[in-house]
Amino acid sequence: MGLTAIVGAGLSGILAAHLSRQQGDEVILIEADDGCGGLLRSINVNDYWFDQGTHFVSETGDDVIDRFLFEDKKVASMVCFNETLAGSYFNGRLSEVSPYLNLTTLQRENCATIAYEMLCRLGQTCSSKPSNAAEYYYQHYGQNFIQKIANPVYEKFYGTTPENLSDKVAQLFDLNRILLFTPESSQTLKVESSINNLIGFHGSTPGVMKYYPKKGGIESWIKELITSLQQQKVKILTSSRIQSIIEESKKIRGLILQNGQEIRIDKLVWSSPSPLLANLCNIKLNTLPPQSRHTLLYDIVYDKPLNSDCHYINCHAPELSSGRITLYQNLANGYRSGYGCTVEVLVAPDQATPTMDNIHNELMLIGLVSEKYKHCYKGIRKLKSGFPILTPSVVSHTQMASEKLMMKYENLTLTGRGNNNAFFMNEVLINTKNELFKFR
Ligand SMILES: Cc1cc2nc3c(=O)[nH]c(=O)nc-3n(C[C@H](O)[C@H](O)[C@H](O)COP(=O)(O)OP(=O)(O)OC[C@H]3O[C@@H](n4cnc5c(N)ncnc54)[C@H](O)[C@@H]3O)c2cc1C
Repeated sequence: MGLTAIVGAGLSGILAAHLSRQQGDEVILIEADDGCGGLLRSINVNDYWFDQGTHFVSETGDDVIDRFLFEDKKVASMVCFNETLAGSYFNGRLSEVSPYLNLTTLQRENCATIAYEMLCRLGQTCSSKPSNAAEYYYQHYGQNFIQKIANPVYEKFYGTTPENLSDKVAQLFDLNRILLFTPESSQTLKVESSINNLIGFHGSTPGVMKYYPKKGGIESWIKELITSLQQQKVKILTSSRIQSIIEESKKIRGLILQNGQEIRIDKLVWSSPSPLLANLCNIKLNTLPPQSRHTLLYDIVYDKPLNSDCHYINCHAPELSSGRITLYQNLANGYRSGYGCTVEVLVAPDQATPTMDNIHNELMLIGLVSEKYKHCYKGIRKLKSGFPILTPSVVSHTQMASEKLMMKYENLTLTGRGNNNAFFMNEVLINTKNELFKFR
């Protein structure tokens, strides 16, 4: 009981607000941005909707979470589907059967060498936890994969090679599995659990329900959740930043906002990055602060449908700037005017950024559009927070911040993507619930 302040109104903070309220707490949700949703915000230009980070959302399998996020009235205006159609462009070929790198596009002997090394690695037990992504890949796929595939692909996404990155990054951009055999062999081999984790199916299979709003981008779902929080009498403050904290005998007892307002609290749930709170609490960290890649979003609407049924395509090709390409036409099928996509591009802060024409040409090369396609709209956005470069030192920086904070304060809960334990939305949600229920 008492007042719980939740800082950060991304999905983690939103769920934390609901769960805390369900436990009987008074709740105030404090967000620095001018709206809630974090990476699940959308923008509207000329009546076209474009999303910011995450696009569609999936059920988590946890009843408590799913009941709040996906109850009937919240998903009434959403398209529901249970199969993700995803592709990958690599080595000059668009493969629409899987989001994973399709190495069957390589010359036969190169593919065979990687397959041979992968199978050899399977027989070798490795007890040590990989200390970086190169070790992770070496343990699973061998040296050839690192040199010929992972190094150039990681250079494109992160501006550095896997040996400088945490093993956690292997989960991102669908770089945790590969296609290496024929569809039939893969099907047979995947029965073996150790191989199942290394290679993908050549095709999608029905899974949990996924949702995407018919109109208004993913943020329109966030708005439903916010309405629900307001009905539960959660107080929501946007455009509000924490200036300082008040601590009393191992507890955080107050928050002072930038406008001077003081909020007395009983508990704090912090869902934005833990090093930010550590800084406010004068906790010194002897590690390097996080770096991020500039993330540019190229929004294009064409007069004709893009040539793919995929919901999204990973452009893994190191020679192209495009990263993930989201095809809204296939997410909100039939409900959108025009045929839109967002192409994510990650660059170093000092790197030249591709022009809109460059990206259009890449979409032509991939085969999604042709010379006959005309733009109805085009625009470039820059993601405020960028994409984190998870080096081992960044991971330990965040971990150290989290540990020191948790040791110092008894009434603090840390949740969210900014605390290292999870990156993907569903992991973040499950983690949020676990953290909140830990001490109840
Ligand atoms: C480019 C990109 C693409 C992604 N795509 C996917 C995907 O396809 N699928 C998937 O599962 N996951 C994806 N993710 C990860 C996913 O977005 C996160 O798992 C999810 O958004 C986590 O929610 P969160 O609440 O922890 O963080 P966020 O969504 O980042 O929310 C944090 C909130 O805290 C606020 N905040 C920060 N500092 C302060 C402060 N000092 N005071 C007050 N408020 C503050 C921020 O403004 C923000 O609203 C992607 C991430 C990125 C960066």
